[in-house]
Amino acid sequence: MSDACAENGLRSVEAAKQMLIDSIDPITATEIVPLSQACGRVLAEPVLSALDLPPCDNSAMDGYALCGESDSYTLIGKSLAGHPFSGTLEPGQATRITTGAAVPGGADRVQMQENCTLDGDQLTMSRPARPGENIRRRGEDVHTGQSLVPVGSKIKVPHIALLAAAGVVEVTVLRKLKAALLSIGDELKPIGTPASELGDGDVYDSNRIALQAALEQLDVEILDLGCYPDQPESIREAFIHARNNADFVLTSGGVSVGEADYTKTVLQELGEIGFWKLAIKPGKPFAFGRLPNANGETLFFGLPGNPVSAIVTLYQLVVPALEKLRGTSEQYRQPPLQVRARLLNNIRKNPGRTDYQRGFTYRDGDGIQVVKTTGIQGSHILSGFAEANCFVVLPREGSDCDTGDWVTVEPFLAPLK
Ligand code: AMP
Ligand code: MG
Repeated sequence: MSDACAENGLRSVEAAKQMLIDSIDPITATEIVPLSQACGRVLAEPVLSALDLPPCDNSAMDGYALCGESDSYTLIGKSLAGHPFSGTLEPGQATRITTGAAVPGGADRVQMQENCTLDGDQLTMSRPARPGENIRRRGEDVHTGQSLVPVGSKIKVPHIALLAAAGVVEVTVLRKLKAALLSIGDELKPIGTPASELGDGDVYDSNRIALQAALEQLDVEILDLGCYPDQPESIREAFIHARNNADFVLTSGGVSVGEADYTKTVLQELGEIGFWKLAIKPGKPFAFGRLPNANGETLFFGLPGNPVSAIVTLYQLVVPALEKLRGTSEQYRQPPLQVRARLLNNIRKNPGRTDYQRGFTYRDGDGIQVVKTTGIQGSHILSGFAEANCFVVLPREGSDCDTGDWVTVEPFLAPLK
C-alpha cells in the first residue's frame, strides 16, 4: 500500500478544526479587570461610550482659527490645547490655535500656520482655507452611547487606546482558561539537568516549556504537572488530577502507536476519544478527546512528542479550539492570514497529508514575495523552525514543488494575540 493510500482514510486538518470548533462550548464565567490588564483578554460585556469623541470641535493643525472667508484677519487671541479661547469670533477675526485645542465659538475653519503670514495683528495667507478645513468634529469618531468594542473581541492595543480615550478604567472579560500541562516519555529529563547526567537517548523535556510559552500568549493559566514516564498507571493518575483541575489537558508524547504509547488507552478508559491521527505533516498522531469530571468535562489535546509536530499542531488545531473555548466570537476567529509567495527552492512532498513546512518569507528586490524552506524538514529539527517566519502550507493532495512555483505561506504574525 502506498503512503497516499495509507493516508486516504485520515481526517483532514480542515475537518478536524471544524469538528473541534463545532463541539466546543465557550466558557461563560467573567471577571472585571483594570484596563491596564485587559490586553489580549476577551470582552464579555458591552462597553458604551459615556461621551462624544472627540469631545469638542478641535483643531487638526497648529495654525489659526478663522471666522468666515476674508483676504486678511485680525488676530484677537489664542486657543491652546487645554486652554480654550473664551470669546466668540466675528467675521474677519482669527485666533492662534494649536493641534487639539478647542475651536473657538464663531470660527468655521483653521488655516495651517505654514500658509500664514502675521504682520502685527494682521493675518494674511497664501491660499484661502475652505469652510470646515482642519476642524475635527465633536463625535465624528464615537457618539455618546455607542458601543466601543463588540463583545467577543480579543482586546488589542487599539481597543485599549479607544477605551481609555472614552475614560473607561475597567472592563468585564471572560475568565482565563486553565490548562493542565504535562509531558510523557521515559527519556525526558527536566531542563536544568546537567548534560553530563543525560543517559543514552535521553532528551530534555523541551516541549513543556515551549507549550507553556505559547499558552501564556493566550492568557491561559498553567497547571504544570511535569513529566510522566511511559506507564499507564502514572498517566492515569496524571489525567485524573488534570481533569479535576483544568478546562483542558495538554499533553505531548506517548500518543503514537509505539509499544510504550499509553495515552490513547488511558484516554479511552477515563473518557472518550474524538479523533486520533490526522492528515497533517508533521503531527499525524494528534489526539482530541474529553475527560468527564464532577463539573462536566475537561477537553483533552494530545500532541505528538516530536517538538516541531507539537508546536505545529498546537498552532493549527489547539489554538483555534482554545479561541472558541475562551469565548472569542466567530468574527474574531478568522483563519490565519495566508499569502502567495514564489519558491526559492525545490520541495519534496508526497500526496496524502497537508504539509506545514517551515520557511522564511520576504519581499525581494523586485518587490516579489518569495519564500525558502529553512533547512531539513524533519519533525525533530528545531533549528530550522527557529529560523522560520512562516509555514509553507502545501495542500493535502499536492506533490513536489519546483523553484519558481507559487505556494501558500502563513506568516507567524503574532499568531496568538
Ligand atoms: P512520541 O510522541 O512519544 O513517540 O515521541 C516522539 C519523539 O518526540 C521522540 O523522539 C521523543 O523523544 C520526542 N519527545 C517526546 N516528548 C518530548 C518532549 N516533551 N520534549 C522533547 N522531545 C520530546
Ligand atoms: Mg514516547
